[in-house]
Amino acid sequence: MLILYPSNWLYNAGVIGFLKVLESCKENIENFLKDDGSVEIDLSLFDKIKIGSAEIPKFIKYLVDSLVNDEELNNWKQENEEKYKEFKDIFEGDFGYKFVRAGNKLFASKTPFQNLVQLEEWRNFEFANLISKIPEIVNSTNREIVCSICGNYNVKIFDPKSELEKRLKNLQITHLKELGPSIGEFPNAFWQLKSSSPLCLICVTLILCHKKSLISLSDKSEIFINAPSFKVIWYLNKYAETIYSEKQAKKVKEILGMSLIELAIKLNLQLGRWTSMNIEVVSKYKDEINFFSLPYEVVQLLSDKTIANLLYEIGEFKILNMVLDGKFNEILKFSERVFRIALKQRNEWNKNENEFIKENVKLERNKNNLISFSQKLFQLYALIEEKMKKEVLR
Ligand SMILES: [Zn+2]
Repeated sequence: MLILYPSNWLYNAGVIGFLKVLESCKENIENFLKDDGSVEIDLSLFDKIKIGSAEIPKFIKYLVDSLVNDEELNNWKQENEEKYKEFKDIFEGDFGYKFVRAGNKLFASKTPFQNLVQLEEWRNFEFANLISKIPEIVNSTNREIVCSICGNYNVKIFDPKSELEKRLKNLQITHLKELGPSIGEFPNAFWQLKSSSPLCLICVTLILCHKKSLISLSDKSEIFINAPSFKVIWYLNKYAETIYSEKQAKKVKEILGMSLIELAIKLNLQLGRWTSMNIEVVSKYKDEINFFSLPYEVVQLLSDKTIANLLYEIGEFKILNMVLDGKFNEILKFSERVFRIALKQRNEWNKNENEFIKENVKLERNKNNLISFSQKLFQLYALIEEKMKKEVLR
């Protein structure tokens, strides 16, 4: 069994990307995510399977399938069918084309990991064979050269003559160039890496997968929500992706807030343990990396199931933002104003009142029942007050 514990964000993003590869091939990720925050991976994932006359580790099959979908393959095949026919013969089917295409996508020019693995080393299965040796590293007690990322596994060279192994072992920072211009300018403590630091085969595999875990936003930035538990990270990012793609929220602050609310509502997990630790959004734009997190007390409020449920029911961004900004007294003022307006007949509202409701209450269900809406707001304020007192007394 390969057991992974959360560490720096890049490593964590790698693990989540790795799981996404498995998920896209219909593995049930629940089985991998443990309540103690770790991920457990059965080593049989690296066993070789036979496809035609070729043998590649199951994980490489998954990786290829996750990188190239059938539609893309058909388009690509039209131009490359003859050129790569030998792979169709080796794999006895179209998976051969998929295999070549996936290698190109990962390692050809202008790709993130350009030349980390030479196309030849991908196509002659040298890389795939190496991946099948991961169980040997996991089961080895040798710690002669410890990996600089996981700090756990040995950096083993199986064949001293292999150029590929030499290259992978000393993963150069240039291969992560899009993560930052140079080590010196890196804002994250993670990058205490020297210009080349020894990396184990497991971490190389994880880093290859990390991009799959990043959520692309319309401003061309990419985000990843990091936390001290893989289970929490997995679900937070899953919710964030949906929330963003369904255009429920645009700002990073709102995406994080709403993901935390969903986590509290949906996931039956003792959240306190994790949310008392740091949950942050890593945001990447071109060469720049930024970190964003919500204040401790706000995270505590959002991970309270009752408060989360109520906020979800209220559903107004105006109110969510008051909570996210810690402006709790404004909730009280706001609810008093809504209540006063709600007591009047709609045709008695003056211009200001009309504008106030139009501006601040967006959902029809709230507009149509302002009394009940204002009561929910009072209740929310009371719950927040109560929770804050408890936090102070603790
Ligand atoms: Zn490692």
